[in-house]
Amino acid sequence: MKNTHVNIPVFIPHLGCPNLCVFCNQRAISGVRSFIPEKAKNEIETVLSSLGNRNTAAEIAFFGGSFTGIGRDLMTKLLDLGESYVKSGDVTGIRFSTRPDYIDEEIIGILKHYTITAAELGIQSMSDRVLKESKRGHTAEQTETAVKLLKDAGFSVVGQMMVGLPGSDAEDEIRTAYKICEMGCTAARVYPTVVFRDTELCGRMQRGEYSPLTVEEAVRRSADVLEVFLGNNVNCIRIGLCDSENLHGTEYAAGPNHPSMGELVEGEIYFRRICQALDSLEEVPEFCTICVPAGEISKAVGQKRCNKLRIEYKYNVKKVKFIENSSLKRYNILL
Ligand code: SF4
Repeated sequence: MKNTHVNIPVFIPHLGCPNLCVFCNQRAISGVRSFIPEKAKNEIETVLSSLGNRNTAAEIAFFGGSFTGIGRDLMTKLLDLGESYVKSGDVTGIRFSTRPDYIDEEIIGILKHYTITAAELGIQSMSDRVLKESKRGHTAEQTETAVKLLKDAGFSVVGQMMVGLPGSDAEDEIRTAYKICEMGCTAARVYPTVVFRDTELCGRMQRGEYSPLTVEEAVRRSADVLEVFLGNNVNCIRIGLCDSENLHGTEYAAGPNHPSMGELVEGEIYFRRICQALDSLEEVPEFCTICVPAGEISKAVGQKRCNKLRIEYKYNVKKVKFIENSSLKRYNILL
């Protein structure tokens, strides 16, 4: 049994993708401007050797573009490469990201020959209106079909969704999260919309036709959807783009780009849980002690102690103290 898990990312920038979603400058997101298939092997070897003998389960992850939309020759070449590492025991499987409309019976027939641990689907929204405004080029119905095909083939599906897309509001996003759960996705990723240079969204923003969410708004809206995933036992494996997704370079134009977006959102969940508990009291004491799960104090207190300060202000509490209680499960608190 391996103790930790790591994805070995092989970024496939924009290959085979004829779409140009308004928010996408795929070269910027992946930090890769061209793709030389032979390099993939070196990239994989480099990560594997850095893992050494550590007790880590690794998966090869073809991320970035739409993996099942690239030429069949290249796709099967990459799958063969990934599978050779599965056979040698170096990795446990292959995962990839793609668009819902690039999944059909033919693709499933190919994928079935390989050890696919998860298919990550760029669902983004289950509102056809939002999909249209974002020029996604597929419908919510196509997403439902793709998830069904993948699940019927026995693959786990990770639903990737965005908050703050043009035309989207908190209700659309909550509905999308519920739909991801209902369709049977086993996990989810949530990406607040960030504006990159050289994208249609950037042009719209400059013309005043689109306003990106602030970090605070993105935190609240991401917390709304995280609540849905928590309530339906769907594992939320990521909130916000990661550092490797190169958001600190010149490609970033505007929007909720925070290096600890996930932690901010989890902090918001703690804030809401604490408020619920305090609201249920007849009288809030002047001095409050809040028990939180072991290892979760920094999230519960919030960045720059924002939760502590907000609670003291909102409930007129003189002092809030946080202590750990190892019997509590994640996101549970006790007064
Ligand atoms: S489908 Fe994916 S890769 Fe293609 S434009 Fe949209 S976000 Fe970018």
